[in-house]
Amino acid sequence: MKKIGIFDSGVETPEEIILAAGLIPYRLFGDPTIEPDKANEHIPPTHCVWTRNLLEKAIKGLDEDIIGIIGTHGCDRTNREFDIWLECLNFDFMFFLNSPRKRDESALKFFIDDMKELITQLEDHFNVKITTEKLRESIKKMNNIRSLLKEISEFRKKMILKGSEFHALVKLAQQQDKDEVVKILESKLEEFKTRNPFLDTNIKKVILTGSDIDDTEFIKYLEELGFHIIIDDLGVGTKYFWDLIDENEEPIVALAKYHLNKPIHSTKFPSYERFEVIKKLAEIYEVDGIINIAQKFCEPILYDHPYMNKMFKNLEIPYLFVEVTYNRESYKQLSTRFSAFAEII
Ligand code: SF4
Repeated sequence: MKKIGIFDSGVETPEEIILAAGLIPYRLFGDPTIEPDKANEHIPPTHCVWTRNLLEKAIKGLDEDIIGIIGTHGCDRTNREFDIWLECLNFDFMFFLNSPRKRDESALKFFIDDMKELITQLEDHFNVKITTEKLRESIKKMNNIRSLLKEISEFRKKMILKGSEFHALVKLAQQQDKDEVVKILESKLEEFKTRNPFLDTNIKKVILTGSDIDDTEFIKYLEELGFHIIIDDLGVGTKYFWDLIDENEEPIVALAKYHLNKPIHSTKFPSYERFEVIKKLAEIYEVDGIINIAQKFCEPILYDHPYMNKMFKNLEIPYLFVEVTYNRESYKQLSTRFSAFAEII
């Protein structure tokens, strides 16, 4: 089955529309083992390392089943760089979905109109009909996946499921055929119900936040340093299944509302609300500390950091901010900072 590649830093692409067109939504991830040499010919090396890495991968050649790309406004990087993707890549179908920065009534209308335009272009290009009925079916399917992920995520809280294992499952859910995803998640859920909790009493329970992290090896690296990611607010994480879409409302309206009502990312306005979400999660999950990661040159997270630092300091909740280069070799250089944090919490 053919796939549509999704270039999105904020998981605000309505996958249901792609499914209703008879295509597989396939979120694009980077590869931290390669350097963005070719991408650097198009984008200054002081711009977000993650999106440069994705462009590098795309220039070198994506999965041959990918027959089109949807770029979604996750942040201004994905926005401006999509113009470069249009120049560098050779896909007949390329669409930029303008997921709004704000969350008011006019933003909702704007998002709905843009989604309608996406539907029209998919229909014209692939000669398909995206009916209300098909959209409803897709919403149901995605809601099922969200519910399964939500239930599975709680096994992190029960100290049964490692954050890295969960991270790999969310990535799988964002790339594979959704019917397959349902089968895998259902079987994993049964497996986790029979597992015993891990008994390491020294383990530090943390919430992971910041730029989206798509390298499961990074999560494993944190685990090796003694952390357990008990919860997160990431795109490869809870932001992907935060809530369910209203199955009774008109599908496009329900889709737009769902994405605009998710916990806000630093890339949207008002980004300071992100603090409230993290604070609440920190309380519910009784975390030992908060780890806020910025991919190198991720401006939205960098701008948010001073505010978050001040607020968590006032609350006396341990908080660590680290800027990471999207390169596995460089992770090792951060061990001292992470280990020092693990020691004080
Ligand atoms: S890492 Fe930051 S700058 Fe880069 S795509 Fe994600 S949100 Fe945007």
